[in-house]
Amino acid sequence: MTANPQPIYFHNTETNRKEEFHSIEPGHVRMYTCGPTIYDYAHIGNYRAYLFEDVLRRYLQYRGYRVTQVMNLTDVEDKIIRKAQEQGKTIFEVTKPFEQAFFEDLDTLGIERAEYYPRATAHIPEMVALIQSLRDKGLTYEKDGSIYFRVSAFQDYGRLSGNRPDSLKPGARVDADEYEKEEASDFVLWKARKEGEHFWETELGPGRPGWHIECSAMSMKYLGPHFDIHTGGEDNIFPHHENEIAQSEGATGTRFVNYWLHCRHLLVGGEKMAKSKGNFFTLRDLIQQGNHPMALRYFIVSSHYRSPLNLTPEGLKAAHAAWSRIMDFHTRLREGLQSGKSGAFSNDLERAVRTSVQRFEEHMNDDLDTPRAVAALFDLIREANKILDAGPVERGQLQSVSDTLRRIDTVLGVIRPEEPMLDEEIERLIQDRQEARKRRDFAAADAIRDQLAARGIVLEDTREGVRWKRR
Ligand code: AMP
Ligand code: ZN
Repeated sequence: MTANPQPIYFHNTETNRKEEFHSIEPGHVRMYTCGPTIYDYAHIGNYRAYLFEDVLRRYLQYRGYRVTQVMNLTDVEDKIIRKAQEQGKTIFEVTKPFEQAFFEDLDTLGIERAEYYPRATAHIPEMVALIQSLRDKGLTYEKDGSIYFRVSAFQDYGRLSGNRPDSLKPGARVDADEYEKEEASDFVLWKARKEGEHFWETELGPGRPGWHIECSAMSMKYLGPHFDIHTGGEDNIFPHHENEIAQSEGATGTRFVNYWLHCRHLLVGGEKMAKSKGNFFTLRDLIQQGNHPMALRYFIVSSHYRSPLNLTPEGLKAAHAAWSRIMDFHTRLREGLQSGKSGAFSNDLERAVRTSVQRFEEHMNDDLDTPRAVAALFDLIREANKILDAGPVERGQLQSVSDTLRRIDTVLGVIRPEEPMLDEEIERLIQDRQEARKRRDFAAADAIRDQLAARGIVLEDTREGVRWKRR
């Protein structure tokens, strides 16, 4: 981390300010991300949240941190239970295919895997223990077999969202997992068994957990009672994250999270994209309409996570054009390296590389300002293209431009890794190289060797012939 000593600033929802980031443990960031409710395909709005978290994770790694990220999979909740009842299925039969689809979508969008994906249904004992601990502290009450959190008993309620329990009417209580009422209400921790619903037999009686308790139980199980970053979309701030603070701090008596980061919504026609509004597109829909997954990724990651982003055909088209410029540049560098040509060292190119990396980092340090960070990359592309148009540059320098692009892309993640070469393809190229040598066209032979090297294939000329291996 000494290579870049500049501080990173994140906008903390809790203080509504940009704050300098310090991890609790040196060199290690522990972060929790509210994951999907796996009752249907996630829509591209959901993926805005997961992409913002992916860029956050990747940038922390770029800066040398080890990241431990936990993303929960909500596999028991009102909507899942309703669907199971409607379709005459178990909750597991409902969630299994969508869990698989979710992981496929993550791969399609190049979203790095978190370290843990805990499922709510596999953590019932942890949730029960947490509720028991809240009960022991007098923060709960029971009604008809369900257990509620008494928000007026938790002094700090409202710290994140500003929704304080001052105006709480006696008996204001919600049972629903999701509710949008902008006022503090006692919320359900444990729902009493209902006829026809999946339930667990526990020390709290038969029933199932509410949605909010799962994130407190699972984050603290994997990350400890106090960790660095908690993320989600802006709709998670209230009541979900407010309730998580109350449950976690209510039980442990210590600070739960240092930095709360929330992305703004992806919009359609100025409105939040949401399942309930019917104005959503899944990733699969958009790919079927001809969008390249990496252009979609670029569309989302090149906007600032704290600005609303409208999904429009023009926006997607512009994103595709910009992403293609990056890909063309990537290809140009690769072909330049494969050609084996080398020219003079360019001081201008050297300067352009240095400046763009410096600016990229400066902007990323400023609360992940990706629009400006991406602009710094385009400055490099413009300058480098101009210089390369005038003739080849020194090979080592070209390699360093290529390394810079790859390094920046460890954060943006928009350059699709190439498919590994097939054995037949490699052998055909080796054959071509042998033929080029026979006709004493050594430049062509070397170009083929470089081309293979760029794809990770190393050749060894032996008395018995050419051997190759994957690097
Ligand atoms: P859900 O499955 O509805 O709980 O949402 C999963 C994640 O997607 C949460 O972090 C939400 O905040 C986020 N999310 C939902 N809709 C949008 C949207 N339109 N734009 C950005 N994030 C969203
Ligand atoms: Zn959550």
